[in-house]
Amino acid sequence: MTLKLHNTLTRRKEAFKPADPERVTMYVCGPTVYNYAHIGNARPAVVFDMLFRVLRHQYGESHVLYARNVTDVDDKINQAAIDQGVDISVVTDKFARIYREDMAALGVLAPTMEPHATAHIGDMIDQIGRLVDEGHAYPAEGHVLFDTTSFADYGKLSGRTLDDMIAGARVEVAPYKRNAADFVLWKPSKPGEPVWDSPWGPGRPGWHIECSAMIETNLGLPIDIHGGGHDLIFPHHENEVAQGRCATHGGEYARYWMHNGFLTMDAEKMSKSLGNVKLVHDLVKEAPGEAIRWALLSAHYRAPLDWTGELIEQSRKALDKLYGVLQDADRAFPDLPESRHARPGVLSDFYAAVQDDLNTPQAYAVLFNLAGDLRAELMRGTDPQAVADRRGSLLEAAHLLGFLGGDPKAWFQGGADEGLSAKVEGLLTARASARAAKDWPEADRIRAELTALNVEVLDGPGGTATWRMKD
Ligand code: AMP
Ligand code: ZN
Repeated sequence: MTLKLHNTLTRRKEAFKPADPERVTMYVCGPTVYNYAHIGNARPAVVFDMLFRVLRHQYGESHVLYARNVTDVDDKINQAAIDQGVDISVVTDKFARIYREDMAALGVLAPTMEPHATAHIGDMIDQIGRLVDEGHAYPAEGHVLFDTTSFADYGKLSGRTLDDMIAGARVEVAPYKRNAADFVLWKPSKPGEPVWDSPWGPGRPGWHIECSAMIETNLGLPIDIHGGGHDLIFPHHENEVAQGRCATHGGEYARYWMHNGFLTMDAEKMSKSLGNVKLVHDLVKEAPGEAIRWALLSAHYRAPLDWTGELIEQSRKALDKLYGVLQDADRAFPDLPESRHARPGVLSDFYAAVQDDLNTPQAYAVLFNLAGDLRAELMRGTDPQAVADRRGSLLEAAHLLGFLGGDPKAWFQGGADEGLSAKVEGLLTARASARAAKDWPEADRIRAELTALNVEVLDGPGGTATWRMKD
């Protein structure tokens, strides 16, 4: 079966064929590190982490190179450093570290590399120099601008004409531009801002040149996959293509472009003025990172995703079900044999869903079917090897999406110490006996005692019960 991905460039789902299966390359625009990441920023990190896992599975771990950059030079960073009266690196080091920790809490693997813009200024100057030499860029009043009329395919990625772009509010008007759509490659720094020497005077790079230079240096052009949120298609990615292709004499830049849809908050745009910005740093204290990851992948990555309280609750319950059946398997068969490799065909529906442009809603449905098969085998209760195989299949599928990596017991009882765990287990056994004897008042009394201990009892099928600490 082949992996199919929707390519923004052709607006179609296409079979993914890397230029070199021994060296599959992917680049995703990463964070601007001046503040905590919000839950919308986490969507591309999680979506492309899943794709990274899928590619590693298909091509082998050592054959996939994934770069996610860190933008550590930017107006907002300068402002944050001025506001806090500290050096810029104090702000960027802190928030780059927090970003990495917060994403790790969502099960995001470290990319193969995390190039920092400030470590690649020389590469940016080099790329700009080639663009100037080839007549694709021109210096003007301390700036260097890309001449958009010099590149016939400008607008092809976003499907915009030059007129559309000029009409768009994001095109900055400036007297030194030859054409309204021309964009900045290099600009003078304002007082107090970081500054680097260049052949066009002291200054700093524009935003778009960062990515095309870091891609060329770290991965080499062209790359297989370039990703980011759909807001980046224009102008950021359109400009990256123009720079990258013109700097390499029109060669290809990225062969597949992928863009995730936007996340809204209770059906509204997330914005500081509406006061509805949810930070990952706070959310991971309120809910398990795995449940947040589940929520982020619960819609297809290209569809919009509305973030609500219920979404987190449903995601937690979905994982309760999956971890619940694993826990029951551990209890019923403490010494399960090694699972034989998933029998051919058992996971074909799962891989078909994943390979169909990362259809996570469909993949989730298959995970529940696999959990149902394991539950049915547990109910039969006679064949440990069959239980082990079904458990192995469920885990193989879930691991590919970055789920069920933890111990089921820790999922339910992570917050409890050993003494409390033993007490709760004793009370649950006593409650099960009371229920078996139809002594309902005693069963209710025990349940109240558990509630007083801040324990939530989750009754499962066939009289089984698991528990967890309430938040
Ligand atoms: P920024 O730090 O604003 O450059 O954004 C980092 C990444 O998050 C980019 O790929 C954006 O497209 C993406 N992003 C920002 N806001 C949202 C959102 N509300 N939903 C989904 N992706 C977003
Ligand atoms: Zn970028």
